[in-house]
Amino acid sequence: MLTIAEQIILTLLVLATVVVFFIPVIKRIWIIASCQSENRFDSLLERFFYTLFRVILQLCTLRNERIWTGLAHVMIFYGALAFDTMTINHVLEGYVDGFYLFGSSAFGLVFSASVDAFAITVLAGICFFAFKRFVLKPKAYNTSPFDSVLIYSFIFLVTVTYLYYEAILVASHPGEARWAWLSQFIVSNLGLADLSPAALGLNLKISYWLHTLAVFSFIAYVPHSKYFHMFAGPVNLFFRKHEPSGTIKAIDLETAENFGAGKATDFTWKDALDSFSCVECGRCQDVCPAFSSGKTLSPKMIIYNLEKHFLASFGPIRKRKKGELKRLVPEVFSEEEIWACTTCGACLHVCPFEIEHPKKLIDLRQNLVLAEGKFPAQLRDFFHHLESQANPWGLAAGSRIDWAKGLNIKTAADKPSASFLLWTGCFGAYDEQGRKIARAMATILKAAGLDFAVLGNEEKCCGDSARRLGNEYLFQTLAIENLKTLARYRIKNIIIFCPHGYNTLKNEYPALIDLPGLFNEEEKEFLKSIRIISHVEFLANLLAKKKLPLKKAEAENQVVYTYHDACYYGRHNGLFDEPRQVLRESAGEGLKELQNSREHSFCCGAGGGLMWLEEKPGQHVNHLRAQEIIQSGSDLAATSCPFCLTMLQDGLRDKGADHIKVMDVAQIVASNLDVSEQS
Ligand code: SF4
Ligand code: SF4
Repeated sequence: MLTIAEQIILTLLVLATVVVFFIPVIKRIWIIASCQSENRFDSLLERFFYTLFRVILQLCTLRNERIWTGLAHVMIFYGALAFDTMTINHVLEGYVDGFYLFGSSAFGLVFSASVDAFAITVLAGICFFAFKRFVLKPKAYNTSPFDSVLIYSFIFLVTVTYLYYEAILVASHPGEARWAWLSQFIVSNLGLADLSPAALGLNLKISYWLHTLAVFSFIAYVPHSKYFHMFAGPVNLFFRKHEPSGTIKAIDLETAENFGAGKATDFTWKDALDSFSCVECGRCQDVCPAFSSGKTLSPKMIIYNLEKHFLASFGPIRKRKKGELKRLVPEVFSEEEIWACTTCGACLHVCPFEIEHPKKLIDLRQNLVLAEGKFPAQLRDFFHHLESQANPWGLAAGSRIDWAKGLNIKTAADKPSASFLLWTGCFGAYDEQGRKIARAMATILKAAGLDFAVLGNEEKCCGDSARRLGNEYLFQTLAIENLKTLARYRIKNIIIFCPHGYNTLKNEYPALIDLPGLFNEEEKEFLKSIRIISHVEFLANLLAKKKLPLKKAEAENQVVYTYHDACYYGRHNGLFDEPRQVLRESAGEGLKELQNSREHSFCCGAGGGLMWLEEKPGQHVNHLRAQEIIQSGSDLAATSCPFCLTMLQDGLRDKGADHIKVMDVAQIVASNLDVSEQS
């Protein structure tokens, strides 16, 4: 169909497109390669199938709450796959007259019909996105409008010129129409079949080149835009985090050259890939409790600004001149932003490409705290209290066991052969509400006839808040002291009723066991064999096995209650069903789910160490959550975290709703035990 001269032009166009396409790709790969190393090459086959499944079935976009957006994306995605195939065909047609990839096969007939159907779905999808972005204007879409205009225009042009070309082709060669039903419809309704052969020939040339130009302009533009996500996103999914989402990797403080991220290249290559994968959909921003409550933090803008900063710093990165790079805080990110994150993980969970926002914020905190000694003034006392008394309030370390007075509870020193160790955590040991949970757990363990002990004054803060506030040194000091204590006793099952302690001991302590010079082989083996059991799993198991004598539920005593999922049990560790099972058994069937529940739960505002920081500016996160509880119409709000319990009680009191009781699941079980020895 094309003359030799036209074929040369087509070849040059293909080559130019390849060059323009790969320049930004190479730039990004260079930046990624200049960052810190990180091993994400385990379980390659599992990673491959996970990614394939997520992308091909479009679960990456369909799995979250924006169902219409997800469906519109699906329509464009499958349309794009069909059009990509037809682009290859289109180019080859330029060299081989009448070329069709699928020959005269049945699949070729079906494919020709489906491409026409996809032309309609793609146009509908584009109209949906354009309407949403430019008419509805949600806050989530507040970046790169020009980029969107260009891409929507390119997709529109590619689709329309395809239909134009195909319709002329059908009119010129009716025998080759296959099942191109839309093109045939266009031909008959626009009277294209009546055109003279010369007019058809001219139109064929014009439509061929228009479509070619639209396609190649689109391809060349994509890696310069946020639509690069169509390549980087699946790669990012492939390298997603395998550990539970709330886990922070240990820094080897003896050998580390960097503490956290002070300059762009202190981030790992995966952090850079994260930034290049963002599609700027704003899902993370929509679910962020910090953003929702009016803080300056938006997880979307963290990733967006990181990407812009990486690209703008390409010169010094390429020349390996780290000294010329900006300091990330305060030149790229503000201190206010990075200290507002509760590490709730809602952003990571909802992101179609599982971009890890909290990690970046913790890396930035680590650098400020460890390398620069800069942190909010209120944390000075907090860190000092942990250093001196191993608890956040600076209360006497020697009074840690006082909560157990009069309960006849043995310590591990008294009873090293105990089957279970009840980990009390700082709240359980010192906080009045937390102590009630500790006593409830002790009551339950006794009622079940289980043999248990506590570490008592030998237990220290697990270090969760210190770590999330960037003080890795303090975290490791506390954690290693705890591990040494555990290694002295040989109690193999630890029950924890604080999700922060659970996450830390279960997911983060194991990485410290192998640090050089700390433990001998026997101790390592023992420490690695310890079972960390959350109290919700423990209680669910006891109740399922009928090991607890519960009072008979009277219909008239049934309460309407709700359950607040703690981030570090729920989203970060997948414990959604266990607390609900416990509540069904102990509080009856009156559960009313909150508007945001299970994986979509809304943080109480205390995670990430923010329990110890004054909350400003904007609303209080716990007030937003308290409002949801009030709206649920419940008489009782159950939770499974002492941090959440405090925040929800405060929030409900501030909202004038302190008639709604807040209780831990353990307290609810203990109060329904058919025994008289409860505290
Ligand atoms: S972890 Fe939570 S608070 Fe932090 S940025 Fe993500 S959604 Fe916001
Ligand atoms: S980080 Fe993820 S959720 Fe947030 S805007 Fe980017 S792609 Fe969307």
